[in-house]
Amino acid sequence: MSAAGFRVGSGVDVHAFSDDPARPLVLGGVTVPGAPGLAGHSDADVLLHAVVDALLGAAGLGDIGALFGSADPRYAGAGSAVFVTEAAERVRAAGWAVGNVDATLVAARPRLAAHRAAMAASTARLLGVDPADVNVKATTTDGLGSTGRGEGIACLATVLLGRADPPTARP
Ligand code: MG
Repeated sequence: MSAAGFRVGSGVDVHAFSDDPARPLVLGGVTVPGAPGLAGHSDADVLLHAVVDALLGAAGLGDIGALFGSADPRYAGAGSAVFVTEAAERVRAAGWAVGNVDATLVAARPRLAAHRAAMAASTARLLGVDPADVNVKATTTDGLGSTGRGEGIACLATVLLGRADPPTARP
């Protein structure tokens, strides 16, 4: 396949922990029990938000803020799954197929290693790809910066797209 048949995209997102003790921590569509939730207009799923921006970036379709504005009351408290499924739909409609996703969560707390496989499987299901095509990593910043102080969670994601074969008809 020629190089024109591939596109790469990157996404970054950061959310602070919420003061609301009732707010769940949702990462990759998976609720992590026993941890404070993240503050945000939607469910503040940093993993899915970073993946959406990587998807949109790879396809040249803008960013999550343009598609799902934080001022839009339809997305208040929204589960971020809808962002992923809609972004994936737009990417497919533009003639692309998801190759693989690699994401890195940056958090001093909580410990996320035990949840990585579930987050990857959940994210893969939302994207409609094989679980083996989604990798979720977790790291810390060794105490440095806002995530190092445990003030929130950051996520970086990379997505590779390939031209769908045969190409999907453009709408
Ligand atoms: Mg976000």
